[in-house]
Amino acid sequence: MQMSDQIKTAEEHILHTYNRFPVVFERGEGVYLYDSEGKKYLDFAAGIAVNALGYHYPGYDEALKGQVDKLLHISNLYYNEPVIEAGEKLVKQSGMSKVFFTNSGAEAIEGALKAAKKYAFVKTGHADHEIIAMEHSFHGRTVGALSVTGNVHYREPFEPLMGGVRFATFNDLDSVKAQLTDKTCAIICETVQGEGGIYPADPEFLSGLRRICDERDMILILDEIQCGMGRTGYGFAWQEYGVMPDIMTCAKALGCGVPVGAFVLNERAASASLEPGDHGTTYGGNPFVCAAVAKVLTIMEEDKIPEHVRELTPYLETKLEELKSRHACIKARRGAGFMQGLELDGVPVGQVVKKALAEGLVVISAGSNVLRLVPPLVIEKQQIDEMTAILDKCL
Ligand SMILES: *Cc1c(COP(=O)(O)O)cnc(C)c1O
Repeated sequence: MQMSDQIKTAEEHILHTYNRFPVVFERGEGVYLYDSEGKKYLDFAAGIAVNALGYHYPGYDEALKGQVDKLLHISNLYYNEPVIEAGEKLVKQSGMSKVFFTNSGAEAIEGALKAAKKYAFVKTGHADHEIIAMEHSFHGRTVGALSVTGNVHYREPFEPLMGGVRFATFNDLDSVKAQLTDKTCAIICETVQGEGGIYPADPEFLSGLRRICDERDMILILDEIQCGMGRTGYGFAWQEYGVMPDIMTCAKALGCGVPVGAFVLNERAASASLEPGDHGTTYGGNPFVCAAVAKVLTIMEEDKIPEHVRELTPYLETKLEELKSRHACIKARRGAGFMQGLELDGVPVGQVVKKALAEGLVVISAGSNVLRLVPPLVIEKQQIDEMTAILDKCL
C-alpha cells in the first residue's frame, strides 16, 4: 500500500486529535528511521524524548523478547521479578526511597498529586489542600494532570477541573510566595520545562522552592518525565542542581518505548502518604514493561549514557549557536544537554518542521515558536553535523 493510502485509511478510523505529519514510519535502526516507502530520516525527536537509546540498542530487544517468552502480566496482587529489579535500580540511581510504577506520564502525575494530598491529610487530619503549579507548564492530559498544566487553552474546555490549584510564574520565586496560603500542601514544577518552550529552571529558583517546602513541611514534586533519564547529562535533571524533590515523576525514556511511568518518593513522603487501598493500577509495573525499565537503567549506568550526553553537549550547543549566528530567524537558543530549543521569530515553526521532514530530519516543536531538539541520547558528532546541515538548508 502507498503511504498516501495508508494515511487515508488512518484518517477514516483514528479519532482526529492530532494533525499528524504525512509520514508512516515503519522501522528504526540506530538513530535513523525509515518510512513505509523506504525513505531514511535522521531522528532528532526520539518519539518525543522517549527513544533515548535509539532503535535496537544492543541487549534491549533481547531483554523484551526474553520476557515475552516468560510472562507479560500478572497484576499487582503478586510480586514479579522484573518489577523487583526495576524498582531497586530506580531507587538506587535516584537516591530516593520508594517507587510506584504507572502506565504513562500523566498517571505518574496523578499519583504524585494524590500522594502529596494524602501527606497533608495525614498531617492535618483534613482535606481541602492547595497546590501551586507553574504557568507554561505541561504535566499531561488526564483531569488531575491537566489541572496543574499552565496552558489555559488545554484546560478551558474541560472545566471544572480539580480545584485548589494556583499558578505562579516559572523562575520567579516571589510569584510562588505570593500564591502560598495556609492550605498549600505542594509545589509542582518541571525541572526543565519541555512543552512550554524548553526553559531550564534557574538554580536559585529550584533551591528556593526546596527551602519553601522544607520550612512549611510541604511536598516538592519535580516532573522529570521529559528532562529525566539522562537527557540533560545527569540521571535526573535535579541531580545537577543538588535539589532533591520529595516526589519525582518519570515516564517517556523510562522504558525507551514501552508505555511506562513512575512516581518516586523520598522517605518523608513515602512514610506518611499512600497506604494499601489508597492507590492502584491493573497494568502498572507489569513484568513486560519492567523488563524494559530494568534493562534501560542497566544500560544507562553500564554504558555511561548520561556521561556521553555531558561530553557531547558543548559540541551540540556550539553547533546550534553557529546556526543562530547564521540565521536571523533564530531569536534564542535554550536548553540543557540533549534537550535544546531554538526560539524562532518571523517563521512559523510548523513550516520548518515540515521542511526538515522533507529533507530527512525529524524534529518537533515546543510551544508556538520553538524548534525542539530531543534526539536519542546515543547520537554522535557526525549526526549533529548532519542535523545542522539540514537545518541550515531549511532555515
Ligand atoms: C510528556 C509529559 C507528560 C505527560 O506524559 P504522558 O505519558 O503523555 O501522559 C507530563 N509531563 C511532562 C513534563 C511531559 O513532557
